[in-house]
Amino acid sequence: MTTTALLSDLKSLANSFLHFLYPAHCPGCGQEMQANQGVICWRCATQLPFTQYEKTAGNPVLAELAGRVPVQFASAMLFYKKQGIVQNLLHALKYNGHAETGIFLGRVAGERLRVSAAFRSPDFLVPVPLHPEKERKRGYNQSLCIATGIGYSFPETEIVGNLLKKPAVSESQTRKNRTSRWENVKTAFCLSETALKEARFQGRHFLLVDDVFTTGATAESCVRQLLRIDKAKVSVVTIASPA
Ligand SMILES: [Zn+2]
Repeated sequence: MTTTALLSDLKSLANSFLHFLYPAHCPGCGQEMQANQGVICWRCATQLPFTQYEKTAGNPVLAELAGRVPVQFASAMLFYKKQGIVQNLLHALKYNGHAETGIFLGRVAGERLRVSAAFRSPDFLVPVPLHPEKERKRGYNQSLCIATGIGYSFPETEIVGNLLKKPAVSESQTRKNRTSRWENVKTAFCLSETALKEARFQGRHFLLVDDVFTTGATAESCVRQLLRIDKAKVSVVTIASPA
């Protein structure tokens, strides 16, 4: 037996032992995972409720957004239901430190986008930013994890995490905006002013990436900012939207 083969055997033995001591649980259903399974269990993987929106002309996400702001393409990959697999996966991603769940979901989304006839490859992937304080507490931005996963299907595409910013909302603003204006403040994003002048961004196609599409307010605000870039084109993809 060669040293490499021996090391590889020892590594796999150590992994099995670790799995025995600390069994991993599927972030979709909570069941104990078999050793050497992927990020989610095979049962959840075969039950993901795909919307097929990327193949549907005028899908609900596109229709909702296109009425408000010009977009090239918009889609959400999965249906989101209370107490369903998708809610559990997103909860694990956002609140339980499961960054790898975001990368996994992004990979699946990327594979579907790559073969969609309606979708044109983007030049840049833009994750919806978190407020820096929130990102510091969470340890990562979940949209960046998803964008990283999507990036596997578009290796020429660069992820730009600092193009958009989520400004801080002060206490006084919170108090002042008890009305519907609060929604605007909560979902306000701004574009990096230096990016506006960068020639490499002009006339390019940006894919905005987020975890969930609900009212569309976040996507709308981000798209409006990206469209300030000269001749920019913007598409939007999220992992989920309500069923
Ligand atoms: Zn599962």
